[in-house]
Amino acid sequence: MRKAKGCVFCDIVAGKAPAYTVCEDELSMCILDINPFAQGHCLVIPKRHVPWWHDLTDEETASLFKMARHVAKCIMREFKPDFVCMYARGRRIPHTHIFLVPTVRGDVLDRFFNALEGVQEAPAELAGLRQPTIFREVAKRLRKSQDSIA
Ligand SMILES: [Zn+2]
Repeated sequence: MRKAKGCVFCDIVAGKAPAYTVCEDELSMCILDINPFAQGHCLVIPKRHVPWWHDLTDEETASLFKMARHVAKCIMREFKPDFVCMYARGRRIPHTHIFLVPTVRGDVLDRFFNALEGVQEAPAELAGLRQPTIFREVAKRLRKSQDSIA
């Protein structure tokens, strides 16, 4: 699907909604996040409406990640964070968007991910996933699955 009705990122790509554009190429666009965690917080989006990043084409993937790296270098130069955190989620707006967030030790994002990592190691329901038999089975399933993915 090229555009999705009611998708704010599709509207931005079409020029029908305002955005602070940083750069764009044929397939991708980088804009400022309007609810930033820090100065320089950007979103890199594909111009085509693709809900989940793993459904991008090879060309879109290359464009998106090349732009993300390019902008991350600009963020490093201009805002001098410790590094630029990258993640993709999309639960609120299901149009692929790569978060680029400059972060320094102890800031909001750093505390959030530290808390998340604490959760990752603590609950009993996750402890069961750390068994060698489970790891072997999961790796086997993923290795086997590669045979049928283009
Ligand atoms: Zn969209």
